Amino acid sequence: MHGMMMSQPLSIIEILRYASDAHPGAGLVSVRTEGDIHRETYAKAYRRAGQLAHALKKLGVGRGDRVATIAWNGYRHFEIYYGVSGMGAICHTINPRLSAEQMLYIIGHAGDQVLCVDLTFVPLIEALGEHLPKALKLVVLTDRAHMPDSKLDLLCYEDLLEPESTSYDWPVLDEQTAAALCYTSGTTGNPKGALYSHRSTVLHAMVVAITLNKSLMEGANVLPVVPLFHVNAWGLPYAAPLAGASLVMPGPKLDGASLFDLMEAEHVTSAWGVPTVWLGLRAEIETRGAPPKGFQQVMVGGSAAPRSMIEGFEKAGIDVCHAWGMTEMSPVGTHGQLSAPMKDLAWDEQMRLKSFQGRRLFGVDLKIVDETGKPLAHDGRAMGELYVRGNTIVSGYFDNPEASAKAIDADGWFGTGDVATIDEHGFLSIQDRAKDLIKSGGEWISSIDLENIVMGSPRVAACAVIAIAHPKWGERPLLVVVPKGDERPTLDELHELLLASVAKWQLPDALEFVEELPLTATGKVSKMTLRKQFEGYRLPDAG
Ligand code: AMP
Repeated sequence: MHGMMMSQPLSIIEILRYASDAHPGAGLVSVRTEGDIHRETYAKAYRRAGQLAHALKKLGVGRGDRVATIAWNGYRHFEIYYGVSGMGAICHTINPRLSAEQMLYIIGHAGDQVLCVDLTFVPLIEALGEHLPKALKLVVLTDRAHMPDSKLDLLCYEDLLEPESTSYDWPVLDEQTAAALCYTSGTTGNPKGALYSHRSTVLHAMVVAITLNKSLMEGANVLPVVPLFHVNAWGLPYAAPLAGASLVMPGPKLDGASLFDLMEAEHVTSAWGVPTVWLGLRAEIETRGAPPKGFQQVMVGGSAAPRSMIEGFEKAGIDVCHAWGMTEMSPVGTHGQLSAPMKDLAWDEQMRLKSFQGRRLFGVDLKIVDETGKPLAHDGRAMGELYVRGNTIVSGYFDNPEASAKAIDADGWFGTGDVATIDEHGFLSIQDRAKDLIKSGGEWISSIDLENIVMGSPRVAACAVIAIAHPKWGERPLLVVVPKGDERPTLDELHELLLASVAKWQLPDALEFVEELPLTATGKVSKMTLRKQFEGYRLPDAG
C-alpha cells in the first residue's frame, strides 16, 4: 500500500526560489574579475537566473543541452548553476587548470553548446581557438564596458540578460533529469563525467546543510575557497541558500593575505577548501597574530589534512572539520565533527579523532573489503578498499560504458580506489589511494600517515611520500620535503619524530628536497608526477 502524500519532484531551482522567500537578507558577496566587490541577494540571483534562462533559450539551448563554464567563484557563475539546471539544461563546470588537451577532450565529449568564461580566461579560450567546436557559442561573464577585444566571436553576459524578463516559467522536470556535469580530475586516462541529477543534488544539499550545520547556519557567511569548478564547490552553492547562509565568493585571489582581508571585511564565519589553501591562511594568521575577526570554522577536505594543521587552527580557537568525498559522490561522504560524548575527551584524543575523515553522512553507506571482495570488520584495524553506496553517488559515467562497467561491483557499490579503516564508532580513516600505498616486504605502509607526522616538523613546509622500487623489499618509502626556513631537517630528526607513532620498518629510507611539490588541477599533490620525477631513483641500500 502506498502512503497518501503528495509527490513533487525535487528540483534545483526550488532551492533558490525558497531562499528568495525564506532568507530575504541572505545572498552573495563576490570579488569580481573586474576588480570590485559586488553584492546581490538570493532573490536577485533568482530573478537573474530567470533572465539567463530566457537568454539561453534564444541562443538555442534546450532540455538536456550542455552549457559549460570556465569561471571563478562569483555571482554570475552561481546564476548559471541555477538558470541552466532550472530550464532543464545541464551545467558543465570545467576546471581551468586542466591541460588544453584535456579541456578540449572534455568540451568535445560533453558536447557543450555554450561556453561561459570569466574575463581572466578569455586568453585561455583564444589559445584553444580553432580547436574549439565551430558551433560553440562563447559568452564572457562581464558587462559591455569590460568586454575585451578578441579575434573570437564573443557574447557579453550582461547584454544577454539585460532585455530579458526576470520571471521565467520554470518547467516541472522529472527529478531524475540530469542537472550538472563534472569531470573527474583523473590522473590516468581521459577524465570521466559524473552526471548529477536534480534529485541527487537536492538530497545532497539537504544532507550537507543538516550535517554541517555548524558552518551552514542562517545568517552565517561562508567562503567557498573550493572552486565552483571542483565538484560544485562541495555542494555549497546549493546547501548555503537552503540553510540561509550567505556566500562570500573570493574570485581569483586565493593567497593567504587576500583571503584574510576578505574574511575580515565580510565577517566570514566559515571557509571551505583543500589543505594547501589553509597552509597559506595559517601562515597569514601567524604573521598578523590573530585570526580574522568572527572566523569560527575551517572545513577541509579533498586530501588528508595533517594533524599539525588541524591543531594549529584549533589552538587559534578555530574549529576544524575534516571531510572526505569524491567527484563521484556529489562529493561529501563523511565529516569529522566529533560526536557529543567525544567532546569530553582529552584534547590530544580529540585532535587524533579530528585528523580522521569521520562519520558517514545520512544516505551514504560505507564498506571496506579485502582483495577477494569480502567485507572487513569495522574495528579500526582491518584495512581494505573502500566502497560506497547511496542516492548521491554515481551509477556510472556520462557516455562511457566501459568505465561505467568497471565502476560498480556486483552488489551495486561504487569502488572509490581509496584504502581505509573504519573504527567501532564509524570513524573512517583514509590510509591512501590504493595506487599510492607502499608495499614493503608484503606489508603496507600508508604514505598519508607518514606525511601527516612529518608535517608536524617546524622545518617542513610541505611533504610527500612515494614508493621507490627496492630489490629486496619490493618497495620502500622515499620522503620528499619542501623545507621551511633556512635550516633543512635531517632524515635522522624526521625519523625520530616518526618513531613516536610508526614502526621502525615503516620509516622512509631516504630524504630528498624540492622547491615545490607538483599539484594536480584540483590543488592536490600529484604523486604521479612526483613518481615520474623520481623514476629510477636509487635508495641508499638498494645494492
Ligand atoms: P576528487 O574526485 O578530485 O574530489 O578526489 C577524490 C579523492 O580525493 C578521494 O578518493 C580521496 O583519495 C581524496 N580525498 C578527498 N578528501 C580526502 C580527505 N579528507 N582525506 C584524504 N583523502 C581525501
